[in-house]
Amino acid sequence: TPTVMWFRRDLRLADNPALLEAAADGPVLPLFVLDPALWGPAGPSRRAYLGASLRSLDASLRQRGSQLSVVRGDPVRRVALAARAVGARRVHVSADFGPYGRRRDAEVEETLAEHGVELVRTGSPYAVSPGRVTSGSGEPYKVYTPFSRAWADHGWRAPVEPPRGGSWLTLDEDTIEIPEPALPDGLELPAAGETAAHRRWREFLDDVERYGDERDRPDLDTTSRMSPHLRWGEIHPRTMLADLSRLRSAGAATYRKELAWREFFADVLHARPESAREYLRPDYARMRYDEPGAQLDAWRRGHTGFPVIDAGMRQLRATGWMHNRVRMIVASFLVKDLHVEWQHGARHFMRWLVDGDLASNQQNWQWAAGSGADAAPYFRVFNPTTQGRKFDADGRYVRRWVPELADVADPHDPSVDDRDLVGYPLPIVDHAAERLEALARWEEIR
Ligand code: FAD
Repeated sequence: TPTVMWFRRDLRLADNPALLEAAADGPVLPLFVLDPALWGPAGPSRRAYLGASLRSLDASLRQRGSQLSVVRGDPVRRVALAARAVGARRVHVSADFGPYGRRRDAEVEETLAEHGVELVRTGSPYAVSPGRVTSGSGEPYKVYTPFSRAWADHGWRAPVEPPRGGSWLTLDEDTIEIPEPALPDGLELPAAGETAAHRRWREFLDDVERYGDERDRPDLDTTSRMSPHLRWGEIHPRTMLADLSRLRSAGAATYRKELAWREFFADVLHARPESAREYLRPDYARMRYDEPGAQLDAWRRGHTGFPVIDAGMRQLRATGWMHNRVRMIVASFLVKDLHVEWQHGARHFMRWLVDGDLASNQQNWQWAAGSGADAAPYFRVFNPTTQGRKFDADGRYVRRWVPELADVADPHDPSVDDRDLVGYPLPIVDHAAERLEALARWEEIR
């Protein structure tokens, strides 16, 4: 019988168990629903990346004599209409564990059931689905290290091949072209799609040894940049874990731990869905914060007068990505130097990051704000100037993203004269004073 494969954040053919299940059912309609609720808040980089990823999936399907049918609208209605159009009895998906996705899928499931159609969930974007790993007492883990041990012990299935042959269906009505939004000037995005993901992964594996020691250096391009590919499911982490398990290198072991962080944060969000918006540690909601205003705006635009902050914020706008160490520094700065609640920063990140993922983003923001799972102790306040000097010692990262500073003597702390000469702003706050202010506010809630 005809069936539907509804792609969401699993934009690939290889190692896609839901697609295999669909192919085993009968002729498959590959479907993507452009959901205004998700498309609306996305910024230009995110939209462009998704468009490119969908075109790549469509191209792979076309090589198999199929194509991706794309419709726009509320998935609750759209998926039911598509199922009816091809006479499907089942709709296959890979499970979504985010708060919005879970709610949406429950509604889709209910509507489909009214028409006698079943929603079948197979697999998820994780090696171990959120909620599977629990402590001895059956509770979700609140701390990373025991989680990562239990996660590794739990284990995962081996990667599966893409479907062989198969017969395919398309929608005749109501479909739209895959969107191809124009990129604003100067925006340069990573290559999207399954082929690009595997190419990048193979390149990175050749260099994985360096990752262990150099991953904290934004001036060296040593991290994998796999995050957008993972976010959109162009490759499954299981595939990557299988490759890593064949390597005996310290770099590979470190990398595996980072993938475990991704799974940990998904697990935390699953256990505490309200933490997408609210403080995971409720006492932090009592802290005094400042109303966001001109300083938040300067942060967003990369005009704070703190070179490493401005470099990171400009890298984000120019490429849809920012180095992890710099994400930590800019997040700490927003919360602890500008006293702005983390949610404002998280929203800006989600708008611009091509890897923007609710679980990783919100939980990392909570981590930086001191309110998260296994969070950085609040009293440890990053000094943006010394962080810059430590991780970008000769200033290459700063010079690249803040070109005004290309020729100044001390790119991490330019003199007042140098700033004046090249048109770079003075620091918008006094870090030492704001650090004390942050600690005083923290004392109030302890
Ligand atoms: P690598 O260093 O090569 O790491 C490999 C993979 O491990 C990453 O692709 C990612 O999937 C995972 N990973 C690494 N570090 C983390 C981490 N701290 N938390 C979760 N997963 C991790 N990551 C996102 O994927 N989406 C986000 O929206 C996001 N928002 C963030 C916001 C803040 C404030 C901070 C501090 C971090 C955020 N991260 C987010 C985590 C991390 O910065 C990125 O995953 C990483 O920079 C991506 O680059 P990479 O693939 O080269 O990383």
